Amino acid sequence: MAYNRIDRAAAEALEAAVGADNFQIGDQIGADMSHDERSLYGTAAPEAVVYPRSTEQVSAVLRICSERSIPVTPRGAGTGLAGGAVPVEGGVVLSTERMNAILGIDETNLYADVQPGLRLSELCEAAAARSLRYCPDPGERSATVGGNAATNAGGPCADRYGSTRENVIGLTAVLAGGEVIELGGVRKSSSGYALMQLLIGSEGTLAVITRLRLRLRPAPAQRLGFIFPFGSLDECVAAALALRASGLEPETLDFADRDMVNFSAAVSGNESFPQDAAAVLLAEFGVTGEAAAELLMERIAELSEELGALDVLVVDEPNVARSVAEAHAALHSSVEAVTRRFDESNAAVPPGELAGYVEFLHELGAAKGLTVRVFGHAGDGNVHAYVYNDALSDSAFAAAAGEFMDENYARCRALGGTVSAEHGIGLGKRKYLAESCGEAQLRLMRAIKAAFDPQGILNPGKIF
Ligand SMILES: Cc1cc2nc3c(=O)[nH]c(=O)nc-3n(C[C@H](O)[C@H](O)[C@H](O)COP(=O)(O)OP(=O)(O)OC[C@H]3O[C@@H](n4cnc5c(N)ncnc54)[C@H](O)[C@@H]3O)c2cc1C
Repeated sequence: MAYNRIDRAAAEALEAAVGADNFQIGDQIGADMSHDERSLYGTAAPEAVVYPRSTEQVSAVLRICSERSIPVTPRGAGTGLAGGAVPVEGGVVLSTERMNAILGIDETNLYADVQPGLRLSELCEAAAARSLRYCPDPGERSATVGGNAATNAGGPCADRYGSTRENVIGLTAVLAGGEVIELGGVRKSSSGYALMQLLIGSEGTLAVITRLRLRLRPAPAQRLGFIFPFGSLDECVAAALALRASGLEPETLDFADRDMVNFSAAVSGNESFPQDAAAVLLAEFGVTGEAAAELLMERIAELSEELGALDVLVVDEPNVARSVAEAHAALHSSVEAVTRRFDESNAAVPPGELAGYVEFLHELGAAKGLTVRVFGHAGDGNVHAYVYNDALSDSAFAAAAGEFMDENYARCRALGGTVSAEHGIGLGKRKYLAESCGEAQLRLMRAIKAAFDPQGILNPGKIF
């Protein structure tokens, strides 16, 4: 596609569309707008940034840009991990950060109407104040709900409650030419193609989301957690899957192997997870009422023996729960704390394949001269794998990490898995999506892109 630069007339039109206070150009633009949280996958500066405050302003911006073939990259909080918000073709970054209102919380119908720039933390707090909750709960709470929808973000509860897609009831979006569409609105629909679901996870390449109706659920009175140490990762995964099939309906089933547990405990100083076991499982349940809590404890005590757990630690006291939550967060943050540069994959494989896949990743890392740290969500087979080696030069690391990722994704594909379970494809995973989808699916995706955005102005260079 051939794009135009932002000339004086375009700049004036954009400024008039959003107002001078909501427009930046040239050196008024901060460096943050050139990258997201994973600048390893690339950085690029926009020519202008707009901060619209309404659907109408988003529509006006897109009309101006489509008339002039100027690329537009939507941006939420920039916490993405795939390079999705990087404006690789320059043009306009359309930041939703000033469209951040809660428009209403309907406690009868159990949903929240919100603007896309609302931070996830603010939605969760507003829901909790009404004894409600927003279940997908991805790990980075400073992300926007619009970014969550655009990446189909998921969290540890995804197996039980779905990722973002399963928790959006309706949305408003602006098409590339400025036309506004309303999609969904009720929980049940069998009416034509699922365009709303298609926009969720489209990473800003098909439309700009300007309003969301998000499903809320009643919050349980109490959250009960259990930590089970195991003698092997095989037993740990098998136990997680047995718990999932037990009817007890765990909300999370997170596992980490000894290597990860010991490493993150050493980095964070938090020893909440037992360190002498080959693998550890953290299972959490939402319960309401004393009787339900007691019944759950009894069933877990029986099951833990049957499942071969070496022990079972109950996480019920608030201070223990806080410490365990911090230990869990350290699984994410400890790699970042020790290395200046790392790459990661966030693939998912069928849950029954988890133990073999994790073993494969460790062997592969050793063969490529990379340190590998792994943990994941057993219920949906989602594995976070980090690789690093600060002794290598940037080019040597890029080569080793590239070989690691090639073989990692090839194995994932062979196991029937998916390239990205949570973070999207963005810039960083395009090659692997193309390899895993095959030509027919890519052709369909390109045709969908062309139908929504014939000039290709929306977030060019992403996904494929
Ligand atoms: C420490 C940490 C932990 C994380 N944990 C998780 C996790 O558990 N699960 C998970 O899924 N992700 C996780 N992430 C990744 C990130 O938070 C998510 O991808 C999040 O959804 C990105 O939201 P954002 O507002 O920052 O979007 P951005 O990074 O700004 O943008 C992401 C993509 O969405 C598009 N976009 C943003 N807003 C809109 C809109 N309104 N309309 C159309 N397109 C739009 C952008 O163009 C881009 O392609 C984590 C990140 C960090 C740093």
